[in-house]
Amino acid sequence: MDIYKNSEIWFAAGSQHLYGEETLKKVKEDSEIISAHLDKLADIPVKVIFKPVLTSSDAITELCSQANHDAGCIGLICWMHTFSPAKMWLNGLKLLAKPLLHFHTQFNRDIPWNQIDMDFMNLNQSAHGGREFGFAGSRLRLERKLVVGHWKDNACIKEIAVWSRAAAALADTARLRIARFGDNMRDVAVTDGDKVSAQIQMNYSVHGYGVGDLVKECDNIPDRDIDILIEEYGDLYSVREKEILKSDSLKDAARIELGLRNFLLKGNFKAFTTNFEDLHGLPQLPGLAVQRLMSEGYGFGAEGDWKTSALVRSMKVMAYGLAGGTSFMEDYTYHFEPGNNAVLGAHMLEICPSISGEKARMEIHPLSIGGKEDPARLVFKAEPGRGINASLIDLGNRFRLLLNPVQVIDCPPMPKLPVASVLWKPEPDLKTSAQAWILAGGAHHTGFSTALDSRYLQDFGAMLGIETVNINAETNIEEFKKELRWNELFFHLAEGIR
Ligand code: MN
Repeated sequence: MDIYKNSEIWFAAGSQHLYGEETLKKVKEDSEIISAHLDKLADIPVKVIFKPVLTSSDAITELCSQANHDAGCIGLICWMHTFSPAKMWLNGLKLLAKPLLHFHTQFNRDIPWNQIDMDFMNLNQSAHGGREFGFAGSRLRLERKLVVGHWKDNACIKEIAVWSRAAAALADTARLRIARFGDNMRDVAVTDGDKVSAQIQMNYSVHGYGVGDLVKECDNIPDRDIDILIEEYGDLYSVREKEILKSDSLKDAARIELGLRNFLLKGNFKAFTTNFEDLHGLPQLPGLAVQRLMSEGYGFGAEGDWKTSALVRSMKVMAYGLAGGTSFMEDYTYHFEPGNNAVLGAHMLEICPSISGEKARMEIHPLSIGGKEDPARLVFKAEPGRGINASLIDLGNRFRLLLNPVQVIDCPPMPKLPVASVLWKPEPDLKTSAQAWILAGGAHHTGFSTALDSRYLQDFGAMLGIETVNINAETNIEEFKKELRWNELFFHLAEGIR
C-alpha cells in the first residue's frame, strides 16, 4: 500500500539548556539510538526519523508546525530524556494536528547501583520529566497515546507498532474517496448518515454515481481481457464444475470486475458501495468482483453502506502485511444451542477471501432475492482463531465506533448454503454481546478482521476523536449502560456546537 511507502513517524526528545552542552550532547546521542532502534524494527511499518533535541518554545512550535505541513509525517513520538519545562510545549502542542505518542521510557533499563551519581541523575530524568510533559497534554485535553516501559521491551514496541498502523489509517482517510453506486437501499436507517459530518470528523469524502456510469465502464471492456481474467480465476480458485469457466454468467462477472476496477482507478477511489436493488443495466449483483477488490485492499459496504465501506478500508490499511484477513461482514443467523451459542456471519456474496482458511471455491448459484442473473461468487469458511467486529454508527450529533472481539470457530458443513461464512462466539458471550451491541446502536454490518484486535481500532478511534466502545470479556450490562450515558454527556460537552 502506498501509504506505507511514503510515510514517516518523527521522533523528538525534549530537554532544556539548564544542564549544559555535555548533557545535551548525550541526550542527542541516546535519542538517536532509540530512534534508530525503532526505525529498524520490522514490526513498525514506517520509517522513524530522528529530529533535533528540543530545548525552546520556538523550536517546539516550529517542529509541530512542520509536522502538520509535512505530507509524509503521520505522527510524532515525544520522549523526555531530561526535564523539559512544559510551558514551552504548550504553543506547539496546541497547534499539533498529527497523532502524538508520548513514549515514557528511559535510556537505561536498570539503575546502575554501583555507578549512579549526580551526573547520572541530571541526565536520566524521564521518570519526572515525562510527568511534566504529560501534564501539558492533560491540561490541553490533548488526545495522545501513552506508552510506558523500556524502549527495548517487546510490549512497548508492539504498542508503538499498533499506534503507527492506526496513524497510517488516519493519514489514509485524508485522501480516501468512496464511490457509491446508487443510494442507501430501501429505508434502512443504520446504514445511512450525515456525509458532511463524516467528512468533518473522519476526513473521507463520499461521491455518488448512477449505476449506469459503472455499466458504461463495463461495456468498454474488451473480450480478450475477460478471457485472461477467467483464466486467472481457474488458476486461483477451485472450480468443481469446469463448465462454469465457459458460462456467460462468469463472463459477466469478469466484465463487472474489470469495469469496476477501472472505474475505481480512474477516480482514485479506495472504497465503494453497491446496492442490489439498483442494478439497472448490470446483469448480476457484483459478488465476485467485490470479493476480489476487497482482497486487494478496497473498502466495501453493501446496500449503500458508505460508513462500513470506509471502516473496512481503514481496517485494511491497519492490517496490511499482518497475518489474517479483513472483510465486510454481517451478523446473519444465531445458533442458540444451550451452552454452545454462536453467530453465523455471512452476506449474500460479498465476503473477502483474505479471511478464508481454505482455497476458495468459485461457484454460480441463483440468489433468492433481487430477480437478476445467477451471480458468481467465492465460497469458503473463515480460518478459526481470534477476530474482531467493528461498527461505525452515526448518532446524529456524533459518531460511535463499537468493537467486539470474537473467537472464530470451526463451522459444520452447510451443503445447501453456497456463500462465504464465518462462525464465531463473541466476547463475553452471545447474550451479553448482543445486548450491549444493540443498546449501543451497533449495525448489522461490520468490518470484521482476524488480523486486528481492539487496540488498533481503539487507537484509530481516538485519533479520529470519536467515542470508541469495546464490548469484551469484562463487559457487564449495567456498567455498560452507564458508560454509554456518561460518554453521551462527555462527548456532548467536549464537542460543543459544531
Ligand atoms: Mn447487508
